[in-house]
Amino acid sequence: MTKPLLIGNWKMNGNLQLNQELLSRLIPKLQQLQKHIDIAVCPPTPYLFQVCDALACTGLMLGAQTVSEYASGAHTGEVSASMLSEFKCRYVLVGHSERRLKYRESSAAVAAKFEAVQSAAMTPVLCVGETLEERAAGETRLIIEQQLQAIIDQVGLAGFEEAIVAYEPVWAIGTGEVAQASQIESVHQSIRAFLSSNAPSKNEDPSQQLPIVYGGSVKSSNAAEIFNLTGVDGGLIGGASLQAGEFIHISESLAETAGSLVSE
Ligand code: PEP
Repeated sequence: MTKPLLIGNWKMNGNLQLNQELLSRLIPKLQQLQKHIDIAVCPPTPYLFQVCDALACTGLMLGAQTVSEYASGAHTGEVSASMLSEFKCRYVLVGHSERRLKYRESSAAVAAKFEAVQSAAMTPVLCVGETLEERAAGETRLIIEQQLQAIIDQVGLAGFEEAIVAYEPVWAIGTGEVAQASQIESVHQSIRAFLSSNAPSKNEDPSQQLPIVYGGSVKSSNAAEIFNLTGVDGGLIGGASLQAGEFIHISESLAETAGSLVSE
């Protein structure tokens, strides 16, 4: 089993100076935890070079927040997977709800991005999750299964052998509202069950090895409880990843959950 994974999604925040200050506080502390957990940060695209440079030789990893589904050409404003890979991105978020909802990315476009990321030898972090209305209508499972099915349609079930899934209830992102323990466990379990039900044989079932992380208003005060839930393999952290103290505490919680003593 791989190590638990923590990803910080900086969204459209930061500048050269703030990034530098944040990284200089994070790096020495987070490096001490790497024996127990994997940690990545996803800065805005213009800062990939700065963060790539700062993380060099630290073992901490770089991620990108989105990617084009196209390889090259007349796509003004877009960034291709091969460009991200040149900056040593290890992970790329695909299908974040802010992109699905605000930028109308369809599940088919998300699936094409997923494939583009894998084709450039990086790992897609597929974000899935339901809106409040969908949950209220009892459609949570259906919506998430549709989001997963789009990936299977694009790359086959084997695509989940080299991927991360992030369960992020849309109503919990940036709202301060966290999903209940039973809701998180049940969705993580249903993601594995759905993938498993699509596997033609046990050998071709990626569901048990697939890391599924939770995202949605995780902070230092609730991280330990969330990371201890069954089937939760880490976290995708938005707002709290911009505050050094918070992100360090969250990382320590995950490292402790991984059954380790955290060094001071
Ligand atoms: C996110 O952006 O993926 C996220 C989970 O944000 P927040 O932690 O702020 O809810």
